Amino acid sequence: MFNLILFGPPGSGKGTQSINITNTYNLQHISTGDLLRDEVGRQTPLGVEAKKYMDQGLLVPDEVVIGMISSKIDETPNARGFIFDGFPRTKAQAEALDKLLEFKHTQIHVVLSLEVPEPELVTRLLGRGATSGRSDDNEEVIAKRIKEYHSKTEPVAGYYHNFGKLERVKGDGNIEETFKLLAKHIDKYLQPA
Ligand code: AMP
Repeated sequence: MFNLILFGPPGSGKGTQSINITNTYNLQHISTGDLLRDEVGRQTPLGVEAKKYMDQGLLVPDEVVIGMISSKIDETPNARGFIFDGFPRTKAQAEALDKLLEFKHTQIHVVLSLEVPEPELVTRLLGRGATSGRSDDNEEVIAKRIKEYHSKTEPVAGYYHNFGKLERVKGDGNIEETFKLLAKHIDKYLQPA
């Protein structure tokens, strides 16, 4: 099993690149943002609670997200591996993920961190807001999401750096260029499927 975290701030291209990586290497894609939006869309109790945080650009509480990830991992026991997109976003989530994977006799092999300058992030997110219908892609909420990223999520990079698992990847090129840079790292572990 090969497990990868695609890390980076909002708008760094995690979602787009996760789909490219999933298709090329046949990994199971787990996006907590997508899972949460699905719950919100179905108006489940979890979704109703999560929406309050998402609409404000705040992180949803750890225990909600960790529970969701745990059941998602259990759904595909025979996966070639997982690509985690938008998770973990706090140190507590990273520690919980380590425990979940250890229980399955596996681990995170590499964390690829997409590096994109902040003005470019804002431009991308506002552009997405114009077309995506996402309620959190407006100027005020974007600023809060970036603030949450700096205070709560950036320390997660340090957590994996200490284990020698963090690789920084330039993410401000076009989709194809960035995918090539990511694939160079993944190819060290795994052949395209
Ligand atoms: P994303 O689609 O990854 O940008 O996530 C959209 C929103 O969902 C975030 O702004 C958070 O409110 C929430 N969210 C997604 N993933 C997580 C996570 N791992 N921990 C806490 N909140 C999350």
